[in-house]
Amino acid sequence: MNKKLSISKNKVFEEISTYNSILLFLDYDGTLAPFADNPAEAYPLPGVIELIKHLNDTEKYSISLITGRRLKDLRKFINLKDIYYAGTHGLEIITADGNELSPGKDRGLKNTDLNNIRDFFKKEYLIDPDYSLEDKGLVLTLHHPTTINKDKIIKHLETIIRKREYEILPGRKIIEIRPRFWNKGDAVKLLIQEIKEKNKIDSYLPIYIGDDSTDEDVFKILNNGIGIYVENENKTNTSADYTVKNPTEVLEFLQELKILNK
Ligand SMILES: [Mg+2]
Repeated sequence: MNKKLSISKNKVFEEISTYNSILLFLDYDGTLAPFADNPAEAYPLPGVIELIKHLNDTEKYSISLITGRRLKDLRKFINLKDIYYAGTHGLEIITADGNELSPGKDRGLKNTDLNNIRDFFKKEYLIDPDYSLEDKGLVLTLHHPTTINKDKIIKHLETIIRKREYEILPGRKIIEIRPRFWNKGDAVKLLIQEIKEKNKIDSYLPIYIGDDSTDEDVFKILNNGIGIYVENENKTNTSADYTVKNPTEVLEFLQELKILNK
């Protein structure tokens, strides 16, 4: 059962004030930016970028942005220096120093692994303008109209996918193919290591804020951290510790962190 995070007077803030290092991980869509019909127009809420920069510039906070989007798409909206970025569910990582990490490619995966699936989509679906393919290299996202027989597509995909390495994940008007062994949780674990080494810290509090089923992979691994789930329109069960209603409440939470840190 989730406790409702009440913004100004919660033990979350007490806990935060007992740590010198806070590792703050933020999802983008539905967390910092309200959804838009066209994902290219899902802008961050006014004030969000300034708050992230302000907090990250303090001794106490290290900020990372974690998204299912490609990094280049995320950085059209937020492109601050000195923060950590993880795109494509953590398969593309850029550290605060600008080093690029590719955990999928490090494990031998190649963009060409999915060529047969690209061909299948091209031949069967992309001839219809109601379908489109978002090609993220090691992840393929087929966007489809609402009224289709998903099962038929999934059944066929199951016969051609490299099952040991990739999985099929149906979502809201999408079917996504992505590597099995790597998710946002793995990306956050890796980033925690990176930040610990760079800042030479042992004691820290990780906080993760996200709204999606892919964010649950992070809530599950945050043993000694704080997970905050952004509900938006969903009423799903979450492994997070707290919930907030929407990106506006996330913004208010970040504002509180700024005040708390004065
Ligand atoms: Mg999201």
